[in-house]
Amino acid sequence: MAITVIDHPLVQDLLARLRERDTGPAEFRTLTRRLGWLLVIEATRDLQTEPISIETPMEETKARRIDEPLVAIPVLRAGLGLLDAATDLYPDTVVGYLGLERDEETLEPRDYYAKLPPMEGRRALVLDPMLATGGSGSAAISHIKQHAHPTSISFVCIVAAPEGVARIGADHPEVPIVAAALDRELNGVGFILPGLGDFGDRLHGTE
Ligand code: URA
Repeated sequence: MAITVIDHPLVQDLLARLRERDTGPAEFRTLTRRLGWLLVIEATRDLQTEPISIETPMEETKARRIDEPLVAIPVLRAGLGLLDAATDLYPDTVVGYLGLERDEETLEPRDYYAKLPPMEGRRALVLDPMLATGGSGSAAISHIKQHAHPTSISFVCIVAAPEGVARIGADHPEVPIVAAALDRELNGVGFILPGLGDFGDRLHGTE
């Protein structure tokens, strides 16, 4: 499985507070942003860098700077919660948006909104906090592959279910997944257990 579950006490602490049923939207947003920083750092661990020469106050020295900018693609609407983390850490990130909904006839996800920038030379980070069945995550990646040409695509989520990881692995084996937790299973209506409930509702205060 191409999944990295970040093993860090801060991730565990933030995630525990995010999962708590009594955590309200204001705290939920703050926790999501902070967790997002750690996830984005992990997802960009192997970004390309190039050697440069700089002058410290003492002498000239060699250094490296990032040579692979990002494009962040939050999947509406829950993915918006992770967007600030990407732009906080990488201010030159360009942003695309994908909105996916379930087609009532085919039951497959279809895009109802897509606004993607050119991606040549950039790494695409797909931001979707709950990787449940993997249907919308896989559709988001397929859409990006059809319409743009990033250097690579990584999938950033907070909680993953085994079913979703298997689906992304089968449909897009080259796409690494970075998560804060790999949970037990899905329930009968596609919610992750133990999970944290409906992420979009909790983030936007709409439950
Ligand atoms: N989406 C959510 O918001 N929560 C889940 O548990 C699964 C999908």
